Amino acid sequence: MSARIIDGNALSAAVRADLAERAAKLVARGITPSLAVILVGEDPASAVYVRNKVAACEKAGMRSLKFVYAPDVNPAEVFAKIAELNADASVHGILVQLPLPKHFDADAVLEAIAADKDVDGFHAENVGALAQGNPRFIPCTPYGVMKMLESSGTPTKGAEAVIVGRSNIVGKPMALLLLGAGCTVTVCHSQTRDLAFHTRRADILVAAVGRPKMITGDMIKPGATVIDVGINRLPPEQGGKLCGDVDFDSAKEVAGAITPVPGGVGPMTITMLLANTLEAAERSLT
Ligand code: NDP
Repeated sequence: MSARIIDGNALSAAVRADLAERAAKLVARGITPSLAVILVGEDPASAVYVRNKVAACEKAGMRSLKFVYAPDVNPAEVFAKIAELNADASVHGILVQLPLPKHFDADAVLEAIAADKDVDGFHAENVGALAQGNPRFIPCTPYGVMKMLESSGTPTKGAEAVIVGRSNIVGKPMALLLLGAGCTVTVCHSQTRDLAFHTRRADILVAAVGRPKMITGDMIKPGATVIDVGINRLPPEQGGKLCGDVDFDSAKEVAGAITPVPGGVGPMTITMLLANTLEAAERSLT
């Protein structure tokens, strides 16, 4: 049997239409939701992500500001820009595209962003609020995953959720959100013994590793909902296409529902960035 496909593009379009309506209401009140994006360096993937974020903003009727710096820029210049944007009341969200060049202290950069403009949800204050169960800005990728689970009708209360990956960007906030939604959560990582033992128990399996097709059908519980966060580029000799951390062809024969790559979690991540920016703008009214 083939799994139901959880279509990130379709869900994204529906959520973005709603966001555009809310943005238009704010614009009518004289507030244009605005996102400032800072890009340092010439990483081609980062440049594409930033371009997509900026384009999505404009399309939803929000304003975007883009600041691009050379890879060898003095970090002081970037800190000064962040301070300027923090103080600018017309800017509601600030995002620094990761990864940063090695001479940057990435944690210090993220902490420099005002917590109430931290639409990526990476500031320690926002991470703490999420850990306490009172999230203010939810990191965009796990936020998008929660929306996908909801839209696919996947029950969370009492479900066994297994996350592969424990990064600050995906794995850890994902664990907190699933815990909050009533799941029993297991987080696996590179030192996990017998990964398949854990993944086979999962009613909800989230793969966020960065290794092409590492989760195969035999590692999945029949009927499980499988969320593939991974974005990997296959080598040219294997076709050069994008693929996830899940081996889609074998997984879809076992899973009950599954996200594709591309067209799954990726578009939802950008959509939830728009949602966070809009929320920041709405909060600025109160
Ligand atoms: P990181 O490299 O920060 O984290 C990867 C995690 O996978 C680590 O916790 C690591 O464990 C774990 N891991 C590595 N090898 C194994 C293994 N063999 N078995 C089990 N766990 C393993 O990556 P990110 O979380 O930033 O991203 C993960 C993937 O998601 C990437 O492909 C990235 O491109 C993609 N991504 C997609 C987004 C989207 O919008 N769809 C957004 C963000 C990321 P350890 O901690 O022990 O090293």
